[in-house]
Amino acid sequence: MNYYSTKNSSRSYSFKEALFEGLPSDNGLFVPENIPVFSKNERSHLRTLPLEDVGYRVMKQYIGSEIEDHKLQEITAEVLNFPIPLKQLDQNLYSLELFHGPTLAFKDVGGRFMSRSISYFSSSTTKKTLVLVATSGDTGSAVAHGFHGVENVDVVILYPDGMVSELQELQMTTLGDNITAIKIDGTFDDCQKLVKQGFLDKDLKEKYQLTSANSINIARFLPQSIYYFHALNQLEVTDNIIVSVPSGNFGNLTAGLYAREMGLPISKFIASTNINDIFPQYLNTGNFNPKPSISTLSNAMDVGNPSNFERIRYLFNDDLKKTRSLIQGFSYNDLQTKEAIKELYQNYQYLSDPHGAIGYAGLRDYKGDNYTGIFLETAHPSKFKDTVEEVINKPIQLPLQLQSCLNKESKSIKMTNNYNLFKEFILSQW
Ligand SMILES: *Cc1c(COP(=O)(O)O)cnc(C)c1O
Repeated sequence: MNYYSTKNSSRSYSFKEALFEGLPSDNGLFVPENIPVFSKNERSHLRTLPLEDVGYRVMKQYIGSEIEDHKLQEITAEVLNFPIPLKQLDQNLYSLELFHGPTLAFKDVGGRFMSRSISYFSSSTTKKTLVLVATSGDTGSAVAHGFHGVENVDVVILYPDGMVSELQELQMTTLGDNITAIKIDGTFDDCQKLVKQGFLDKDLKEKYQLTSANSINIARFLPQSIYYFHALNQLEVTDNIIVSVPSGNFGNLTAGLYAREMGLPISKFIASTNINDIFPQYLNTGNFNPKPSISTLSNAMDVGNPSNFERIRYLFNDDLKKTRSLIQGFSYNDLQTKEAIKELYQNYQYLSDPHGAIGYAGLRDYKGDNYTGIFLETAHPSKFKDTVEEVINKPIQLPLQLQSCLNKESKSIKMTNNYNLFKEFILSQW
């Protein structure tokens, strides 16, 4: 499979090239030359397979022979070694629990797939591989854990100082070794800007094999299609299925759209956001107006310029009508988010985190008949302990994955959002 930039279809890249390049230099995003479609027979066969085999078959479509089959099988088995259960809350209401991985958020799937692909290809590169990643919370920990201890790769994580939860911060700053955490005096958008500027910087590109680990990277983005297949495999019904995706940078939702293109019978997607509602506004007005992000309780979705919009726009050929026929948008403020957590707890005895609760709210407010609704529960509720405990008025337990980082030393470097200082720091370190 070849890849090309959404801004220029004349130059093609291999999977490996797109993986390491991260972002094409023309400011587009990498997309596969086509989205592979499973035949009806293949689809029925996929329904009978366990998660790791579904993962292998989906990724094989995108990687072809660039990673040897047995190696790809090994990678997908390792990446998908935790369950992704579809929990039934009511007759037609399901939660897809994506938080059973090591950092308790859905980003573990893409983060781990990417780190293992980079490690696979790194043996054949001579420059030092430097992964630059901006995070508003969960990406950082998923990427850090995915890469921790991987040889010949260093990871630099930028996060907005004071805007991630204490636990999220600990997950990024207590690993050490090849993982460096930088807290930026600014917003997530400032962090993302520094990273994007880094990728376009000739000096950095000359010295390092630079790569991104944000959802803009195809190796993070594509594996997210896998669990949509796995979700529907756990359902008896095969039609009128609506999936609500709590969204920030829209990598998860775009991967869902790809899964649908591959042949998965999803009737509609709901783009559920917090008050950073750039995409729902786009659906309403037809104008895509990025804005500075506003911080909320669902901080992993505090994104004012959703990067995967470019892939969505490209997929639908800028056809707003078509986009609207497949995606409906809803947005919620913090008060409504808390109400949704409470509602899930009271009506279904289900404990949710602020992101998943927003996904649920979108499904609840969708007007349609006889549909089966799935919302993605993207993080474990204990990652947002303070909010959840306040709402349900009860203490909740920390899972082992989180307890273990509480006693470790936290290390991070404080920096302003000045690009030149950031660049100097990088060049002086490696
Ligand atoms: C990253 C994240 C999101 C948003 O996902 P996107 O792919 O950026 O839209 C939602 N919930 C949680 C918990 C996250 O970590």
